[in-house]
Amino acid sequence: MGIGENVRNILSQLPAGVNLEIAAKSREAYEIEEAIRAGARIVGENYVQEAEKVIPMVKSQAEWHFIGSVQENKLNKMIRLFDMIETIGSVEMAKVLDKKCQIFGKKMNILIEVNSGKEPQKSGAMPEEVEGIVREISKFSNVKIMGLMTMGPAVEAEKLRPYFKLTKELFDHIRDQRIENVEMKILSMGMSDSYIVAIEEGSNLVRIGTKIFGPRVYKR
Ligand SMILES: *Cc1c(COP(=O)(O)O)cnc(C)c1O
Repeated sequence: MGIGENVRNILSQLPAGVNLEIAAKSREAYEIEEAIRAGARIVGENYVQEAEKVIPMVKSQAEWHFIGSVQENKLNKMIRLFDMIETIGSVEMAKVLDKKCQIFGKKMNILIEVNSGKEPQKSGAMPEEVEGIVREISKFSNVKIMGLMTMGPAVEAEKLRPYFKLTKELFDHIRDQRIENVEMKILSMGMSDSYIVAIEEGSNLVRIGTKIFGPRVYKR
């Protein structure tokens, strides 16, 4: 099956209100273009260097999200390239981003990445710290929190359920606090192997790579 057909298949499976983000790391511009022409609207990229090369080559309109690990020395480029950064995990990083956005005269939409498996080697905020981090970041005027994102541990889909549940609970709880300058609209959870479980647990943005483009030449 081709990329376009894969996109149409997945789009037809998604319940109303759930959006598709194509995870485009390692993919060529023409492949991304094909997915957008089939109806994909949001493209996720993990590496600034790749995004810099590919974004100007993709002529179809799309929303570009950064889903990789954020490095401070790449923030200027990221502000130029991306419409949303899904992987902000600390007040410190958000503060630097806020300052740089001010210089660029741009307001950046962000998601707070939750380390829902509390894995020491992984990025993202610890679940118990998320609300406090959201409250601090809400004071910055050049970044706007739009929701939460999580990966969860590298386990089979069914075993990811508790991590998705935890992240959804945080999402609902923070939304109910009605914090000024914070919108809890986007809950980004689920990948090729886990998006169905993630949707059952409340995801409204699924990030899908392999199931659309086929196996990658390198791994995440
Ligand atoms: C690669 C990647 C995905 C998609 O993974 P697949 O298993 O190829 O669907 C989703 N989210 C992030 C953050 C990724 O790096």
